[in-house]
Amino acid sequence: MNAGTQSNPITRPGVEMLPSGDERGLDPRDLTTNALVALGHEPMSPLKALRLRCLDCCVGSANEVRMCVSVKCPAWPFRMGMNPWRAPASEAQKEASRANIARLHKIDATPADAPSGRGEFERNGGAGTSLPGCASPGGSAIVSGRAA
Ligand code: SF4
Repeated sequence: MNAGTQSNPITRPGVEMLPSGDERGLDPRDLTTNALVALGHEPMSPLKALRLRCLDCCVGSANEVRMCVSVKCPAWPFRMGMNPWRAPASEAQKEASRANIARLHKIDATPADAPSGRGEFERNGGAGTSLPGCASPGGSAIVSGRAA
C-alpha cells in the first residue's frame, strides 16, 4: 500500500483529501477488486477499457470514435477495440484454434452416457489423463473449467 493513502480523509467515493486541501483519486493499486466494484467498475481488459474510454470521449457514438482524427492521442490506435501492435496469428495458430473449437463442439455434442474425453477425465479424478488429441497440458484444465 502506498504511504499516506489511508491517513487522508475520504471526501467522496474513490477520492481523498490531501493536507494541502487538494483532492486526489485513490491509487487503484491500493484498492481491492471489491472496492473497485463498489466504485462502479467491473473486470475488463485494458483494451476494452480503452474502447469504452473512446466511446465516452465521443458521447457514446461508435461512428464518432471511428471518425476520430486525434491521431496523436495514445488511445487512437486502440480505439476500434483491437491491438495493432499484436502480431497477427499465423496460419498454423489459426488452424490450431479452429481444431480446438471443433473439438470442443464435438465434446459438447456427445451424449451424456457416451464415453468422452471429459468423462474419462472426471472418472479418473483428472489424474494422468488428457483429452483426445489435446497436446497442450492446459487443454484439460480448459474443459474442466467449462464443466464446473
Ligand atoms: S482516440 Fe479519439 S476518441 Fe479515443 S480518447 Fe483519443 S481523442 Fe477520444
